Amino acid sequence: MQCQSVDLRMDVMEKLIDGHLYQNTLAALNEAAALVKLDPNILERLKKPKKAIMVSVPTRMDDGTVKVFDGYRVQHSSTLGPCKGGIRYHESVNLSEVSALAMLMTFKCALAGLPLGGAKGGVRVNASKLSRSEKQRLTRRYTSEISSFIGPEKDIPAPDIGTDAQTMAWIMDTYSQEQGHAVPGVVTGKPIEIGGSLGRSTSTGRGVIYTVEEACNYLKIKQDFNVKVAVQGFGEVGAAAATCAHELGLCVTAISDVNGGLINEKGLNVTAIKDYYSKNKTLKGYKEADAITNDEILVSKCDILVPAAVDGVINENNAKKIRAKLIAEGANGPVTLQAHHELVGNGVFVIPDILANAGGVIVSYFEWVQDLQNFFWSEKEINSRLREIMTSTFRTVLDHSLAEKADMRKAALGTAVKRVSAAMLLRGLYPQ
Ligand code: NAD
Repeated sequence: MQCQSVDLRMDVMEKLIDGHLYQNTLAALNEAAALVKLDPNILERLKKPKKAIMVSVPTRMDDGTVKVFDGYRVQHSSTLGPCKGGIRYHESVNLSEVSALAMLMTFKCALAGLPLGGAKGGVRVNASKLSRSEKQRLTRRYTSEISSFIGPEKDIPAPDIGTDAQTMAWIMDTYSQEQGHAVPGVVTGKPIEIGGSLGRSTSTGRGVIYTVEEACNYLKIKQDFNVKVAVQGFGEVGAAAATCAHELGLCVTAISDVNGGLINEKGLNVTAIKDYYSKNKTLKGYKEADAITNDEILVSKCDILVPAAVDGVINENNAKKIRAKLIAEGANGPVTLQAHHELVGNGVFVIPDILANAGGVIVSYFEWVQDLQNFFWSEKEINSRLREIMTSTFRTVLDHSLAEKADMRKAALGTAVKRVSAAMLLRGLYPQ
């Protein structure tokens, strides 16, 4: 369906939100709601996004032809503050996926105690096939189509799969041109030169490893080179998580990107691989390791597994074969709910996405605050505030999990849902 710009009616939306990630997210929400005995009226309201916009993004390609892409921006909740969430450029993007990810953002922000709601956006496109100028034209047109929907007081995008700091710079510039003045607070994850925050690009991966450290302390796993870590995805999250684990002294045995990966049970030199990757744009051909597929990496021999690429990769087909004792969800929704139950039943400790990968939105929040104040903090201050929030959030969830004899996913979602619900009840329903 191609359309100019449509505010989707709820009945239309209902048909569109029935994809597997949405259903998975909804099932997890229902479990958490039962755990915290959530008011059924609040649950009804949380099951659907507040607003969604679907836009057509006509883009001139380098050969002169025009291609028309589908773009989306979904705001799930603005109860706690302006909506916050990334923009994804990927062929899987559709209204259902974006809606599920927007809902996860509401709970991620609430869990970390941020004064923000949840949103997500995206364009259905294979970004790796676009030239830089095609990507810029697509980004500017998409921004222009959603510009009335976003803004520093209402909805603040950030990078996700297929988008990066440069993409955010184009969004910020297009929005600012339309407003007639620079508006750095409209996006986070921007380059430092135009109001970005120190520490933002590594924050999600760094935060994942902060939660791994806390989980190891709880599980009494001594954090040294005997601990083997496998990381799927070598983008912003995966590369930073692998680097941070390596710096912590853990043994990173396997890493991968979309085209496959590398394994060496004696440990990989993550720094050397990062250099190799930035020169060659591929992991293929790196000499000090063997090749491994993306399916193999998940079931490889390791103590800690960090799926940091796409959703649904750990599912009923491979859950039984997972050998890790600890899984930290760097990606959003990498473990299906069915697989999660199976893993937890087998004694695997799973740190859920809304906790494990919250570092990105926490430092995005810092960036937004710095932009609004026009006053910037040091990287040391950012990392120490990030660690403080990640650690205290992990402990809150763990305490809730132990008190309620619930797994970490239920406890994390339950904690988040309770916070959103308290605010919704205080604000009430308009009109009565
Ligand atoms: P990215 O585009 O920088 O990297 C994605 C990585 O995954 C790349 O290495 C890519 O090659 C690989 N990949 C893509 N498709 C794959 C597939 N089918 N199988 C295996 N590998 C595949 O994206 P990112 O920002 O690192 O995001 C990764 C995940 O983390 C996403 O689920 C995203 O929603 C989530 N996340 C990102 C942030 C952030 O701050 N960037 C914050 C929270 C959550």
